[in-house]
Amino acid sequence: MPASLDLCAPLAVLGADVQVPLVSGEKVGYAALDYAASSPALQRVWDEVAAYAPYYGSVHRGAGYLSQLSTDLFEQSRRTVADFLDLREDDQVVFTRATTDSLNLLAGAVPAGTRVFAFETEHHASLLPWRQAGLTVSYLRAPDSPEQAVAALAEALAADTAGEHRLFCVTGASNVTGELWPVAELTRVAHQHGARVVLDAAQLAPHHRVSVRELDVDWVAFSGHKLYAPFGAGVLAGRSDWLDAAEPYLAGGGASRTVAREVDGSVAVEWHQGPARHEAGSPNVIGAYAIAAACRALSEAGFEALQAREQYLIGRLTAGLAEIPEVRVLSLFGPQAARVGVLSFVVQGWNSSHFSAALSAEYGIGVRDGLFCAHPLVRTLLGGGAGGPGSVSECGAPEPSLPGERSLNAIRVSFGAGTPEEHIDRFLAAVRELVSDGARWNYRNEGGRCVADTRR
Ligand code: PLP
Repeated sequence: MPASLDLCAPLAVLGADVQVPLVSGEKVGYAALDYAASSPALQRVWDEVAAYAPYYGSVHRGAGYLSQLSTDLFEQSRRTVADFLDLREDDQVVFTRATTDSLNLLAGAVPAGTRVFAFETEHHASLLPWRQAGLTVSYLRAPDSPEQAVAALAEALAADTAGEHRLFCVTGASNVTGELWPVAELTRVAHQHGARVVLDAAQLAPHHRVSVRELDVDWVAFSGHKLYAPFGAGVLAGRSDWLDAAEPYLAGGGASRTVAREVDGSVAVEWHQGPARHEAGSPNVIGAYAIAAACRALSEAGFEALQAREQYLIGRLTAGLAEIPEVRVLSLFGPQAARVGVLSFVVQGWNSSHFSAALSAEYGIGVRDGLFCAHPLVRTLLGGGAGGPGSVSECGAPEPSLPGERSLNAIRVSFGAGTPEEHIDRFLAAVRELVSDGARWNYRNEGGRCVADTRR
C-alpha cells in the first residue's frame, strides 16, 4: 500500500466546508460518506456549468446564437462521453435522466421476445425493467466468487436456448459490497452463447476507467449524480441497431423527423435514427454538459492516481473495521475481493438505522442504512436468503439484541475522489466509540426514520 504522502490530493468538491449541527448543539464539518447514493459535485463541474449558464439556450430548436451554441455544446458533450467510455465507431450516446432511466429505455428497445439473464444480486434498476417490459427474465442465484459467476452464467445460457435474442445485464461494481464483477469474462461467455451484454456502470464509472471497447460490452449505463455531476442527466451508450429499430422511448418533438396528416385523417410519423430517436422533448443540456465536464475532470486527474488514493482509503477502512469484532462486513466474494469505495456492514447488538442515525446526530457523519435497492442481495448477505418480508426494523430498540442474531438491514459507507483521509479516520473513531460506549442520546422512529429524540 502506498504511503499517503505519495497519493494525489482529493479532488475539490462542493460541500467540503459545510458545517452541520450535532444533536448536542455543537457544529462539525460534514463527513459525506454516502457517495454511492449521490456524490457531491466536483468544484470543476460546478465552475464549468456556472461559466456556461449565461449562454444557456434551447437545443436543436432555435435560430439564435445561444441556441446554436447550446446545441453545439450538447453535441460536443455527447462526443466527450463517447471518448470517456471508449466507444466503438458506430456506437451512440443517448442522454437520459439516470441509470434507471437508461435501463428502462433499453428494456423497451430490445426486440420482442428477447430473453434476459441477470443475477439476483443486481440493484433493482438492473433487476426490474426487463420484467416490467414484459420480457422473460432468468434470475441467477448469488455466486460465491467471480469464477462461480462466470460458470453460472455459462450454465444458464447453455441450458436455456429459447428465444432469438438474449441479453445479459450485469453491474460493474456492487452498490452494496463495492465488489467488482468480472465484466470482461462474463461478456466473453455471454457472447459465446449469443447473448448481448449491458453493463450497469452506476457504481463503476465514478471509480474506474470504463472502456466499452476493451470490455466488449454492448451497452453501458451510468448516472451523472453519482459521477460528481448532479444536474439530472444520465447516459445509455452502445450499439445502435436495436435502438434504431425500436419505437422511440418517448413520443414527441425532437424524436420525430416529419409528422404529416394522411388522407384518411390519421397522422403519419417518421422517427429519427440515432440518439434523437430516444431523446424526445427539450434535452437537459446543463445535465449533459455537467457529465461531460466530470468526464474531462476525471480523465485529467487520471483514474490510476484516483484509484491509488481510493485503494489506500479502502485499506485504512477495512483494516480499522477488522479491529472491531462486533462489526461484520458484508461480502459475496470474500475479504480479498477487488472493490471500489463502497462497503456495507452490520454491528452486532445494533439496529443499523439506529447506528446510522447516531453517526449523523452525534458525529456529523452521513452514511446510508437499509437494503440499498438491492433487497435480494442484502437479504442473502444478512443470512436470510434472497426472499422474505419487508425488513425496515424498528428504531430505538436495538436489533438484533442478542449476539449472533441477524440484523434486518445494513449500514453502507461509501466515498470517492473528494474524500479526505480525515473522514475515514473520523468514521472509524465514531464506530469504535459507539460500539464501546453506546449512543449518548435517545432515538425514536419518526415517519420511518430513526432520529435523535430532542423532545423535552
Ligand atoms: N445501478 C446501481 C448499481 C446503483 O447503485 C444505482 C443507484 O444507486 C442504480 C443502478 C440506479 O441509479 P439511479 O438512481 O441514478 O437511476
